Amino acid sequence: MIDQETIQRIMDAAHIEEVVGEFVSLKKRGANHIGCCPFHNEKTPSFYVSPAKGIYKCFGCGEAGDVVKFLMKHEHYTYPEALRWLADKYHIEIKEEELTDEEKQRQTERDGLFHVSEFAQKYFADLLFSNEMGRAVGLSYFHQRGMSDEIIKRFGLGYCLDEWSNFTDHARKNGYSDEVLEKTGLTIFKDTDESGTAPKHRVYDRFRGRVMFPIYSISGRVLGFSGRILTSDKKAAKYVNSPDSDIYNKSRILYGLFQARAAIAKANKCYLVEGNVDVVSMHQSGVENTVASCGTSLTTEQIRLIKRYTPNVTVLYDGDSAGIKAALRAVDLLFAEGMHVRLVLFPDGEDPDSYAQKYGSAQLQDYLANHEDNFILFKIRVLLDEVKGDPIRKAELEHETARSIALVSDMLERNEYIRQCSHLLHVSEDALTNAVAKAIATKSSADKTAATETPAPEKAEAEPQPQTPQPTASYPLPEVERHLAKLLLNYGNEKLYQTYKDEDGSERELVYTVAQVIIGEMLSEQLSFVHPLCQRILEQCTLMIDLTGSVDTSRFMNSNDEQLRSFAISLMIDTYTLCEESWKKKDIYTPKIEDNLLQDVSDSLGTFKSMRLAQMIAERREQLRTANTEQQQQLLAEIKQYTDISRILANKLGQVIAPRR
Ligand SMILES: [Zn+2]
Repeated sequence: MIDQETIQRIMDAAHIEEVVGEFVSLKKRGANHIGCCPFHNEKTPSFYVSPAKGIYKCFGCGEAGDVVKFLMKHEHYTYPEALRWLADKYHIEIKEEELTDEEKQRQTERDGLFHVSEFAQKYFADLLFSNEMGRAVGLSYFHQRGMSDEIIKRFGLGYCLDEWSNFTDHARKNGYSDEVLEKTGLTIFKDTDESGTAPKHRVYDRFRGRVMFPIYSISGRVLGFSGRILTSDKKAAKYVNSPDSDIYNKSRILYGLFQARAAIAKANKCYLVEGNVDVVSMHQSGVENTVASCGTSLTTEQIRLIKRYTPNVTVLYDGDSAGIKAALRAVDLLFAEGMHVRLVLFPDGEDPDSYAQKYGSAQLQDYLANHEDNFILFKIRVLLDEVKGDPIRKAELEHETARSIALVSDMLERNEYIRQCSHLLHVSEDALTNAVAKAIATKSSADKTAATETPAPEKAEAEPQPQTPQPTASYPLPEVERHLAKLLLNYGNEKLYQTYKDEDGSERELVYTVAQVIIGEMLSEQLSFVHPLCQRILEQCTLMIDLTGSVDTSRFMNSNDEQLRSFAISLMIDTYTLCEESWKKKDIYTPKIEDNLLQDVSDSLGTFKSMRLAQMIAERREQLRTANTEQQQQLLAEIKQYTDISRILANKLGQVIAPRR
């Protein structure tokens, strides 16, 4: 429970572009910041953040909200967790109120896992420096690998003592329950076996005798661990990882991303290595834009994590056959996600860590810069070696190559691959071009089948989006309506000044807000918007004006109606840059709303009214053809009425509202 006053202070302090910017690489464009949406897969940015309005909106998948909604959605925080995160970031003290039992329960479950993970990380890190065995075994291992204390601390590395339950005993003493210890996988509990005999050690530490690599979320919370064994025990796995839990899902985590994300965005490039030690070693050598997929082979979700920061991935792999195979497995996946992939192959027997140790930082950076290879060519070179003149296998390789090239989304890049590969494979460019075209056709028909078989994963936006106006009639009525709704939401409370001559000839001034003018004009002509969501915005604004005299947009942002909320937010994000072209083409829009609000309101209302009236007249003309005599009378009367209004309107246009100065 956080009191309202504190919530308000947090919301006032939070800058949405800073918060979103911690997770998404944003670029400033006009009044907004834009980037690639973290909630769906996209190649061109359609994710908008408006600092002025404190909101974000994706025009690709429709996801929208404020800074708290972003954290809840992105980090899977609860509402209080999101607020606490913000309070922490902006150094705002939270006065805790008493929690209800239900809230306590919910919070304790996930928080319990986070807390014990953080507790464990601190304990292991402390042992590394202050415990005799920790120093002798763990710390000396890290030092041997050239890691400084500074980098060890930066990655929160630690050591778990080689005793059965040293950590578990310590955690229990500090009040952590067996339940959370088991759920995080830090402790393993063994029950009696089938014969009923109890094992010698019922409770033991999963990571005993291992150096510890904590795994952080993008925002720096400890989610789990990877432990490396230091003895040469053949039976024990070299690495042991935390099992998946409520807070840890290995296929969605990249080792080192928390420490690397800023450097990745800055360099616009991400190095992908095989192991935790390689990551730390690369950072130690000054190559900080490095991550690893730990405990799994690379997954699509992990690639999408990288993609938030950069589309460029350079994969570093050992020259041994396992390393090459791993690299090959990654290639199609990376291409399928539209990444630009390069490869650096280390000399036989070397990995980034050993290379850095042997030759030093400068040489490592030099090697990386000069040995980047194109991934498809690398693949062909490796496989050609295996083909060794076997014509069937060579045909397979050609087919395989065409399939890989087909995954490259950029046409120029694809043609370049075709050129180079045809040379390597000794086939004609035309033949390979045909094979690639065929592979693309097969792929897209497979995609289509998949698309029709499975329902769209994300709720399809029913509304045509601003960047793709879809006029339903020969005139863009929906766009004019949307524009008026936009004026209501963004400028509803701005004042407009209208001057008129009084009966005695003296000049008088009337002050109205934009919302009052729009709503007043709509009501006086008994007009409504055709677009149902625009109409709902109009209705709700009318209600607010009646009750309070002003438009409160937070009502829309916090609306329980997802469709209305998303639509309103999309209008509130200033997509002027997107709309500009389409409006210009139709010649009904003047640039920069703020510069000429009066003119804009007046023109938009005039345009809307004449269009709407024309539409209503056309509708009634259409109905006339099938109407009976009585109905015809009624329809003709309406047509006359609307025509009269149109005429008056035409005369009035341009003089309804005069600017103040
Ligand atoms: Zn999206």
